[in-house]
Amino acid sequence: MADEGSMDDKDFLKQARKYSEPFCITNGKKFRLKDVDPGDTLDFESDEKPKAQDALAAGVEALAELQEKLWAQDRWAVLIIFQAMDAAGKDGAIKHVLSGVNPQGCEVTSFKAPSAEELDHDFLWRCAKRLPERGRIGIFNRSYYEETLVVRVHQNFLAGQKLPQDLKTKNIWKRRFRDITNFERYLTHNGILVLKFFLHVSKGEQQKRFLERIDDPSKNWKFSLNDVREREHWDDYMDAYEQTIRHTAAKYAPWYVVPADNKWFTRLVVAAAIVENVNALDLEFPKLDEEQLKALEEAKKSLATDQRAS
Ligand code: ATP
Ligand code: MG
Repeated sequence: MADEGSMDDKDFLKQARKYSEPFCITNGKKFRLKDVDPGDTLDFESDEKPKAQDALAAGVEALAELQEKLWAQDRWAVLIIFQAMDAAGKDGAIKHVLSGVNPQGCEVTSFKAPSAEELDHDFLWRCAKRLPERGRIGIFNRSYYEETLVVRVHQNFLAGQKLPQDLKTKNIWKRRFRDITNFERYLTHNGILVLKFFLHVSKGEQQKRFLERIDDPSKNWKFSLNDVREREHWDDYMDAYEQTIRHTAAKYAPWYVVPADNKWFTRLVVAAAIVENVNALDLEFPKLDEEQLKALEEAKKSLATDQRAS
């Protein structure tokens, strides 16, 4: 990478693949969660946080420029899904990585436990309603993937879903994987780029962050006893994540399993993955045809000779 705080958006584009590719899963067959170290920072040393932050700033700038083209072209949309255990840093990643993007071109939706109305529909319904329009970036803070994660870990959630009893078979998870991959394929066929991030924090780092939430008054509001209870199901969650990623990673909708014990590194990888994939769309500002260019020239002439302006 460029030395001493001198990275710009063009340098970042060249580096993006290097930061993101090691964590990209496009074929889940051989994927094992234990192969990803939550503390990994590639070749950044622990005292190189400022260097990574400088790179992130360049990434934010690169993304802002790409988003402008995305918006102007109005053909593609980008759907970015974040999944993680509590305190892994979803909110911070969203806030930092998208900090340069025009708010008009971006929408974040958080999915919590489904409402009564949502339970009266198929599980994709509430997410389908929030898909990004062309030209926009849609962020899902949690998503339909909860249906093979929390719902799998706590089967009472499944019991509470109003599915016909005959459909609640042991095949339900495989079916959901298939339904999700089909849905994502459908989205890509419609010009929606789908990127999925699992921020992979270690159990020890999560404990540290929960304790900080208790000890630091400005973080007290983030603390939830329920989050602590969920830790008891840690291994079941890890199994559910592994299964989910194994079955739903695809070339057209990759999973990025991002080390999340160092927030500065997590954000850099997320920015790199988004920039790299959006850049690969080869976005361009719309080109005007001859007639439109002629009209521009006319407009210029008439503006230039507009006496009333002076
Ligand atoms: P934060 O804690 O940063 O506000 P969060 O995403 O953890 O963000 P919470 O309100 O704490 O938000 O948690 C939302 C909860 O809703 C999570 O525990 C999640 O697993 C749960 N949830 C999301 N989708 C479903 C679903 N389809 N069925 C059951 N529970 C769900
Ligand atoms: Mg929470």
